[in-house]
Amino acid sequence: MSKINIYDLEPKELTGMLSGPSFRATQVLNWIYKKNITDFKEMSNLPKDYREALEERFFAGALTLLRKEVSLDGSEKYLFGLPDGKTVETVLLKMKEDEYDDDGKKTREARYTVCISSQVGCKVGCAFCLTAKGGFERNLTVGEIVEQVAFIKKDKEFGEEKSINIVFMGMGEPLDNMENVVKAIKIITHKDALCIAPRRITISTSGLATKIEKLANLNLGVNLAISLHAVDDVLREKLMPINRAYNIKSVIDAVRGFKADKRKKVLFEYLLLGGVNDDIASAKKLAKLLSGLDAKVNLILFNPYEDSEFKRPTTEAAEAFRGYMASKKFICTIRESKGIDISAACGQLKQRDKDGR
Ligand code: SAH
Ligand code: SF4
Repeated sequence: MSKINIYDLEPKELTGMLSGPSFRATQVLNWIYKKNITDFKEMSNLPKDYREALEERFFAGALTLLRKEVSLDGSEKYLFGLPDGKTVETVLLKMKEDEYDDDGKKTREARYTVCISSQVGCKVGCAFCLTAKGGFERNLTVGEIVEQVAFIKKDKEFGEEKSINIVFMGMGEPLDNMENVVKAIKIITHKDALCIAPRRITISTSGLATKIEKLANLNLGVNLAISLHAVDDVLREKLMPINRAYNIKSVIDAVRGFKADKRKKVLFEYLLLGGVNDDIASAKKLAKLLSGLDAKVNLILFNPYEDSEFKRPTTEAAEAFRGYMASKKFICTIRESKGIDISAACGQLKQRDKDGR
């Protein structure tokens, strides 16, 4: 019988599988998720024969760290090997530095966001995306999704109380692997597991409208981000073939029905491609399209890679676009290109590793 990865299990499932008193599952989960201990031998408050029995049936962790790069701005990129030899990447973004008062006492901890992957490759095939170039290989398992977060927590020695944000903006389309992503979120948010609040989690999607509706009905309390990137269907179809199945209107309609946290705004991501969609006429159309929606806009500057057919927009074009959206009362930010020196846009470390650089 093959062993079971504990990262694949919701706490109630583990409880159902273990013998002995019901607190055993909580003890095991406490070691794994709170103390970052994955070797059963080290779980010192469990009887020795119990630890041996656990080892026969279970293991915790399927990822192998193949490579890690640290960016000048503090972002870190992890390339993980999977049991079948495939690879996937996870990026830790440092959003804010530690803050100290005049006496050198720390007044605020640095803030981090973990950008996780949901698939090896992606079926959606967006024209600008490096992940798409390699095609689709497979869905990540629940455990492979959960462990990306757990691994980084362990690697960075983040304590139990450390609050981190999670974004599904790594490789893959999360709503195309919805069952595993939803179960992973249940484990990530569970108080006996990673205990990260749903409001700290964002699912980014290329716009699978029917899945957005399903996600809304699950009421997980997570945030939604839509990769819009174009304001008319002709251009969006060229950039994102998924638009043929779900056009802009169907995506916007699905967003209207997304009742996450009523106080929260849905995030629209708009990738600025130099000379393609970064003009003020597009900004005007975008403002019109989103009017009446409780939306905020995040402008992403295209991160070029070797042989990419698109250009990074100029700073002036990006600023003008942002200024127009702000003048129409949208909260509109330009996403800082974190980790650009370690090619932290999705799919890029993996590609470099293949090329042997
Ligand atoms: N599949 C999901 C989530 C992963 S991609 C989605 O598409 O939303 C996360 C974000 O990175 C998307 O908004 C995507 O459009 C963007 N992206 C892809 N390639 C990029 C590149 N080369 N430079 C900057 N952003 C990129
Ligand atoms: Fe897939 Fe997102 Fe890349 Fe499009 S941008 S190919 S949906 S990972």
